[in-house]
Amino acid sequence: MMDQVRCFIGLGSNLEDPVNQIETAFKELAELESCTLQNKSSLYSSAPVGPQDQPDFVNAVVELETSLDAHALLDKLQGIEQAHQRIRERHWGPRTLDLDLLLYGSEQINTERLTVPHAFMKERSFVLYPLSEINPELEFPDGTPLSQLLVACPMGTLSKIRV
Ligand code: ATP
Ligand code: CA
Ligand code: CA
Repeated sequence: MMDQVRCFIGLGSNLEDPVNQIETAFKELAELESCTLQNKSSLYSSAPVGPQDQPDFVNAVVELETSLDAHALLDKLQGIEQAHQRIRERHWGPRTLDLDLLLYGSEQINTERLTVPHAFMKERSFVLYPLSEINPELEFPDGTPLSQLLVACPMGTLSKIRV
């Protein structure tokens, strides 16, 4: 049996009742085979990155333990996105559900389909603050403590919407 790997997934939605999209995704992630949901953050709201002519996002982060390899996990995440009828219209445009693999154990992955740690997570308040809510002691694969990134990352428009 493969070892369990602790990983973190970032969730985002800004269409079709985003709070409900995220709460449904929590359940779907909890039910994924070979995965155990260990923890989930509060829901947060934030202004969109990129094009501003779209609704605010609802964001959250979950911690999963999985025996899936990183690409198999990405397949599962993309399957859930598709089940939410996500349509890719434009880069950084609105979407019903976005699931990003933020961290996969302490691995650094760079393939055509997958960059882990997620490429922009270290500068995104809507990732770093929910992540620190569930794991304030976290360190990145390169040894950088999450707490160090937080001091350099203003909350901006981010606010907690539910406890
Ligand atoms: P951003 O990456 O800036 O958050 P996005 O989430 O809008 O942008 P998507 O359109 O959801 O980008 O994803 C584009 C591609 O990114 C996916 O097809 C996937 O193969 C790739 N990708 C690379 N690294 C990751 C990762 N860590 N998690 C999820 N997808 C990733
Ligand atoms: Ca994303
Ligand atoms: Ca994505």
